[in-house]
Amino acid sequence: MADAPTNQPSSRKLVVRNIGLLLSGDLARPVLDADTIVAEAGMITAVGHAQDVDTEDAPVVVDACGCAVAPGLIDSHVHPVFGDWTPRQNQLGWIDSCLHGGVTTMISAGEVHLPGRPKDILGVKALAITAQRAFDAFRPGGVKVLAGAPVLEKGMVESDFAELAAAGVTMLGEVGLGGVKEAGEAQRMVAWARKHGIRSTIHTGGPSIPGSGLIDADVVLAADADVIGHINGGHTALPDDQIRCLCERCSRAIELVHNGNFRSALVALRAATELGQLERVILGTDAPAGSGVQPLGVLRMIAQLASLGEVPAEIAFCFATGNTARIHGLSCGLIESGRTCDLVILDRAQHSAGRDLLESVALGDLPGIGMVIIDGIVRTHRSRNTPPAERAPVVVCKPAGGAL
Ligand SMILES: [Zn+2]
Repeated sequence: MADAPTNQPSSRKLVVRNIGLLLSGDLARPVLDADTIVAEAGMITAVGHAQDVDTEDAPVVVDACGCAVAPGLIDSHVHPVFGDWTPRQNQLGWIDSCLHGGVTTMISAGEVHLPGRPKDILGVKALAITAQRAFDAFRPGGVKVLAGAPVLEKGMVESDFAELAAAGVTMLGEVGLGGVKEAGEAQRMVAWARKHGIRSTIHTGGPSIPGSGLIDADVVLAADADVIGHINGGHTALPDDQIRCLCERCSRAIELVHNGNFRSALVALRAATELGQLERVILGTDAPAGSGVQPLGVLRMIAQLASLGEVPAEIAFCFATGNTARIHGLSCGLIESGRTCDLVILDRAQHSAGRDLLESVALGDLPGIGMVIIDGIVRTHRSRNTPPAERAPVVVCKPAGGAL
């Protein structure tokens, strides 16, 4: 049994040992020479070889059985509403399903699917504050949903952003989804948000659904949001020359999403590679959306980019972990001492043509997930959604006072 989902990190010591491959999430050093992780109070306290770290007195020991361990995946672009329900496709349990795809943190790009979403400024602020509070208090399956991302509407003034920031709102929903679509207006509001410590993202490309609009490269460049949201369109992408222009003419994060144009994602990835700026690349699903919910969407992006985008698989994992954590200022996303202990334990899927995890991903196969840990607590065992992993970790509970 997994521990009961809770918002409180484990106070117990956790050891994960016999790790066959340790993916750090850090582009500069994507694979670590270590086989053991130690965590206390939900935070990683040591990473190293078993004989070099203190594994004594841990009531919970996970034997990775030679599997790979990566930081929990971060979906940089989701559209939650409330609870573990989405009205977009009327699905229950979609966040828990994504947990089974290795996602431990989700970042809202706006709670736009709320039926009857308020568009007056007071209502916009009230919704953002309520969503932030609700998801802070309720974590489906333990997944951290960073929500409360107001969608900009005409008439907002600087004091609105100050008020939102003071209330605990830390990011905007996609600029362009609300009434603000014009370059100057978007630029002014993004700057106010930034001044008050609120991060921003912008819809890029053609309209998503009837009622939304086109945001082209000129508007994206003028608005200067922290994240070029779904640079590969959500779904309809900009022409290749505009995508390249966005990569070359600004330094903001380049977000590639599952629910976009995959060919355009490769155009953006190639531009980032040529610029030597892969640290800007982050991954999301942009789900729930018209094309549904993809519990394995982030894993699918990793496998597709690694197999078709000419980046090594261990680098593709960094796009969905360390890069996103750095851009959003999160304490997860890297395997290193002092970071939140959010981990996904995985192995090559059974019968993959690849000989090991990285080769299987490089061939475009999805890995199998054997366990997900959030805040030092085991949240799932073998995933119900991925193909079965070749090997799976086991929890070894140390008897009181006894040896393992
Ligand atoms: Zn969008």
